Amino acid sequence: MYLNHISEAIGRTPLVKLNKVTDGVKATILAKVEYFNPGNSVKDRMALKMIEDAEKAGILKPGGTIIEGTSGNTGMGLAIAATARGYKCIFTLTDKQSKEKMDILRAVGAEVIVCPTNVAPEDERSYYSVAKRLNSEIPNSFYPNQYDNLSNTAAHYETTGPEIWQQTEGKVTYLATGVGTGGTICGISKYLKEQNSAIKAIGIDTYGSVFKKYKETGIFDENEIYPYKTEGIGEDILPKNVDFNLIDHFIKVSDKDGAVMTRRLAKEEGLFVGWSCGSAVFGALEYARENLTEQDTMVIILPDHGTRYLAKIYNDDWMREQGYID
Ligand code: PMP
Repeated sequence: MYLNHISEAIGRTPLVKLNKVTDGVKATILAKVEYFNPGNSVKDRMALKMIEDAEKAGILKPGGTIIEGTSGNTGMGLAIAATARGYKCIFTLTDKQSKEKMDILRAVGAEVIVCPTNVAPEDERSYYSVAKRLNSEIPNSFYPNQYDNLSNTAAHYETTGPEIWQQTEGKVTYLATGVGTGGTICGISKYLKEQNSAIKAIGIDTYGSVFKKYKETGIFDENEIYPYKTEGIGEDILPKNVDFNLIDHFIKVSDKDGAVMTRRLAKEEGLFVGWSCGSAVFGALEYARENLTEQDTMVIILPDHGTRYLAKIYNDDWMREQGYID
């Protein structure tokens, strides 16, 4: 028994009960551990789907180049799927992303272009703009645009959602996940709400991101936008994959609370995961303590692996420099 390519190993990730970090919570808390994907992140699922859908639509042709603005994980997913199919990959990243993420992308054969973080999305130096420009300049190139490409949400509607429904035998009552492009939360939420309309989806947002305020007031407030350190969640734009009707409530989690909880997940649960995982768990448990009963089952998505954050949140000196630990 063997797979024809490593991309066939995407999905069917384990659901694991959290036991130690859940003090004060009555509900059953289950973590969907997405680092079991071959690229060690949840983004493998949508990367493969964006490529497959583009091939079907004739947008991506043999010998093509894939160009994407990515915080690293989507790039890894795209690069894995691209190797089997012979595509070249060029990725634009912001300079706040960890060096590990850049090295990993180069290791799987991609070209990496580092762009400044603190410029507006429409600025010609932003990682969105550079990706778009390269796409217009390089012949036979495909710009997946994970923010607005609805194959992203579809991947989770088709795989992650059904997996959670089956793994919980329909007992899931809450979903909690960090929101970046919105594909993860919206794809899963759409599937779960179709099975049981009472299921609620809780989005985890960062301080410095527009989502929570927009959901609560309908106002895109530029004052909500400022630099923060958590990687992969929160945005200064409204991606098409974020369908606010599928997200019932947002919680903002600080860089520090997310980072400290990530380290607790590794030490206390044996889950060596990435920063946004701690953010998702911290925010989800805060909500669960207030709102959930013994009857509830909450599934929290843990998007990626801890290796990508060794020089940051798993480094005591770095944590002290940030003032996150004494
Ligand atoms: N966490 C990490 C580490 C990520 O890379 C991403 C993707 N940006 C997310 C969470 C959020 O997932 P989504 O883009 O599907 O909202």
